[in-house]
Amino acid sequence: MQLYNNLSAKERAELIEEAGKDRLTISFYKYAKIGNTEIFRNHMFLAWDSLEVLGRIYVAHEGINAQLSVPAENFDKFKAHLDTISFLENVRLNIAIEHDNFAFLKLKVKVRNKIVADGLNDDTFDVTNKGIHVNAEKFNELIEDPDTVLVDMRNHYESEIGHFKNAVTPDVDTFRESLDLIEEDLKEHKEDKKLVMYCTGGIRCEKASAYYKHKGFKNVFQLEGGIINYVRQTEEEGLENKFIGKNFVFDQRRSERISDDVIANCHQCGEPADLHTNCANEACHLLFIQCESCKEKMENCCSSNCMEINRLPPEEQKELRKGQGNSNDIFKKGRADHLPYKKDLRNIFESIKTKKN
Ligand SMILES: [Zn+2]
Ligand SMILES: [Zn+2]
Repeated sequence: MQLYNNLSAKERAELIEEAGKDRLTISFYKYAKIGNTEIFRNHMFLAWDSLEVLGRIYVAHEGINAQLSVPAENFDKFKAHLDTISFLENVRLNIAIEHDNFAFLKLKVKVRNKIVADGLNDDTFDVTNKGIHVNAEKFNELIEDPDTVLVDMRNHYESEIGHFKNAVTPDVDTFRESLDLIEEDLKEHKEDKKLVMYCTGGIRCEKASAYYKHKGFKNVFQLEGGIINYVRQTEEEGLENKFIGKNFVFDQRRSERISDDVIANCHQCGEPADLHTNCANEACHLLFIQCESCKEKMENCCSSNCMEINRLPPEEQKELRKGQGNSNDIFKKGRADHLPYKKDLRNIFESIKTKKN
């Protein structure tokens, strides 16, 4: 029985091309108690592999979080399979706005401690005691309310290229940091303010809303299905779309354009730009925003140092990397000091303070 991929990403890309089938990019999550994660994982792998599903799926005792791509012609079978699993019956599927047949090239189903790295101790609160889910229409109404504090629960490199108008966008690298920041800033307003949250697909808000309720917040709301589902709903129902810029996504597409506004800047020259790139130097891979002209000038690198290294023959680069360990920059995501135009959002919480008065 084959329980793992044995094709390389390149072989897979060739296969997809040959098959010429349209694929749907889908994400879903569900918090549920899963006893034997290993058995569950194997079951999902076998079923999905046979439907040519590709993607990145995390399974933990707290539930499942899946980003995947499904051949359009197998979608009904895929859905039918989900419906055979009690806690996944009728689970909400977020279907991407732009499809890319190459969004994922492998099927990876991994057993993890958590489905979202949250840094929280689960025993302290009940993640199923969540906030009120609101649809796009209700969300639009809520965020116009002067008593609402709208918070973006994503990380700085996500909100930097796109967010809802008037949202507070904490300058954080982790979910855990933003939970604390928001609580501290709103501690006097647990009862009188409406805390409205959103994230990419809803999974982070679901945990955050349960956390804030546990911490005594009385009015906690979350955007059902996140930005992905919101955009779809506004299109289908002809509602005003209050999201500006691009939605950062976690597959090879990197982002989906929602409005024409370019709200970020090239981290190297400061010109308007909102395209994320990873530094081409294998030993760096820093995630940062780079405009077309800097891309050309800097040869896809984040610094002249990386550019020099990147010009060396691959063998020499390998030699240089030996014993260096992994660069931390992969996780710093645009925080390197040599990028002069990375926005410092640290003072953005001032906006909450003005709203309080
Ligand atoms: Zn530039
Ligand atoms: Zn670099």
